[in-house]
Amino acid sequence: PPAATARAIAAVEAHSAHNYHPLPVVVASAEGAWMTDIEGRRFLDLLAGYSALNFGHGNRRLIDAAKAQLDRVTLTSRAFHHDRFAEFCARLAELCGMEMVLPMNTGAEAVETAVKTARKWGYRVKGVPDGMAKIVVAADNFHGRTTTIVSFATDPEARADFGPYTPGFEIVPYGDLTALDAALTENAVAVLLEPVQGEAGVRVPPAGYLAGVRRLTRERNVLFVADEIQSGLGRTGKTFACEHEDVVPDMYVLGKALGGGVVPVSAVVSSAAVLGVFRPGEHGSTFGGNPLACAVALEVLAMLRTGEFQRRAAELGDHLHRELGRLRETGAVEEVRGRGLWAGVDIAPSRGTGREISERLMERGVLVKDTHGATIRIAPPLVISKGDLDWGLEQLRAVLAD
Ligand code: PLP
Repeated sequence: PPAATARAIAAVEAHSAHNYHPLPVVVASAEGAWMTDIEGRRFLDLLAGYSALNFGHGNRRLIDAAKAQLDRVTLTSRAFHHDRFAEFCARLAELCGMEMVLPMNTGAEAVETAVKTARKWGYRVKGVPDGMAKIVVAADNFHGRTTTIVSFATDPEARADFGPYTPGFEIVPYGDLTALDAALTENAVAVLLEPVQGEAGVRVPPAGYLAGVRRLTRERNVLFVADEIQSGLGRTGKTFACEHEDVVPDMYVLGKALGGGVVPVSAVVSSAAVLGVFRPGEHGSTFGGNPLACAVALEVLAMLRTGEFQRRAAELGDHLHRELGRLRETGAVEEVRGRGLWAGVDIAPSRGTGREISERLMERGVLVKDTHGATIRIAPPLVISKGDLDWGLEQLRAVLAD
C-alpha cells in the first residue's frame, strides 16, 4: 500500500485487537456509493456496511435528521419518556404490519431480545415447563457474536473457545422442512432463521421453504422469528425478504439499515400477544430507543414507505443477476446466489480466492468483501446508479479475466 496507508494500518495493528482482517484501505470520507481514502483515491462501495448503508453514505435526509436531533436532545434513557419515541414505535410497527416494538441498538442485542421474548412467551403463554424451552435454528446461521448466539452457530471460527455454551437450541439443516418438522417437539417455542442467509454466502432457501416454515410453526403453536437484520428494509427488492413467499412471521428482528448507517438502531417487532409478555424491569437497554436513534430511524421509515428503494433494489438487482449470470457462462464464476441487489458469487478456484479477488478489485477502485474462502458478496447501497454498478461489474469481469 502507499506510505500513508501503510503507516495508518501499522498504527491500527499496534493497539487494535485483531478480530478483523480488513482490506488495506483507509477511508476518510464517503458520499452515496463512493468512498475516498486518505490518499485521495476513490472506491465504489459494493458492501454498504453489510447492508447498514442501504440509503448510501452521507444521505442528506438522514444526516439532516440527525443534526436537527443533535441540537435538541440525544438521550433520556427509558427512565423518562421522550417526544420521538411514540412515533418511532408506531411507524415501525406500521411498516411491519405488527403491533409492538422493542428497540435495542445492535443486531445481536435484538436477536438476544427475540430469544428472551420467545422463551418468556413459551413459559407464560404456551405453557412450556420452566427451563425447558427449545428454539430451533438453522445450520450455517449468522445471528451475531454474543455468547448465547455463538452457542448455536455452526461456524467453528465463530464458536470455538467461547464455551461453555448456552443450552436450549437445536440446529437443523437450512432449507429442510422434514428436519424442521421433526425438531418441532412439544417444548419448541420458536424457529429463528434468516430468510436469506447473508454471512453464509447469500444463500436463498429452496422455493416454498419459508411458506413451509410458516405452516409448520402455525400448526405447532411455535413462533416464527425472522432475522431480517441483513435481508430486510429493501435489500432484496421488497421491504422484507419473507414477502418473496408471501409469508408474515410472528416476529421480525431488524437492525443495520434501520439506523441508516448513521447510528446503531435495532428492534424486535411483533404482536401485542407476544411482546406483551414483558413487564417493567425484565429487559432493557440504556441507549435502546434513544431520541437520536428514533429521529434517524423515522427518516429511514419515511423513505421505505415510498417503496422507491425496494423498487430500485428489484430493478437493479435483476440487472445485477443478469450480468453475473453472463460471468458464470465464462467459467470464472462457479455459482451465483441472491435476491434483489444482493449477490453471493463463488469464484472458480483457478481465478483465485475470494480474498485475492477482493484485493485485485480494490486495486481497480471497487470494494467488496469475501466470505468462506471462495465467495465474494455484492451488496451496494440501493442508491447506486446503474452506470456505477456497470462500471463495478466491468472491473470484476477484468479481474476475473486476468
Ligand atoms: N443477524 C444477521 C442476519 C446479521 O447479518 C448480523 C450481522 O451481520 C447480525 C444478526 C448481527 O448484527 P450486529 O453486528 O449489529 O450485532
